[in-house]
Amino acid sequence: MLEKRFIIENLQKTYCYRCGTSLEGAKLITISEAPIALVAHAVCAICKAESMVTITPTGSGSVPVQSDLNGEEFKKFIGAKAVSYDELLDLHVALKKKNIWSLLAKKEKKPANKRKA
Ligand SMILES: [Zn+2]
Repeated sequence: MLEKRFIIENLQKTYCYRCGTSLEGAKLITISEAPIALVAHAVCAICKAESMVTITPTGSGSVPVQSDLNGEEFKKFIGAKAVSYDELLDLHVALKKKNIWSLLAKKEKKPANKRKA
């Protein structure tokens, strides 16, 4: 895990893509944290621009990436597992038996599988 002090030092060297202010005071939502890197969603304290920052132990400041997803949305997608080949083949077989609309209609009955477009 990266030390909090180290993260703050890195944020001081990272600047908002819109207004150029240091992201030291930005509101951070940690998306993923590993020993080698911290990925966070930052909201600029001055102009509220939202960006993604990646902080690594060797990093000398990171370049914020502009994004239209909010922090919670990022968390959702980063936790989503990739579709496997088997799942794709299953879908292919399922589509031969039924049309896609009947498959989609079935899924919509389960609230847990509901996704925002
Ligand atoms: Zn800003």
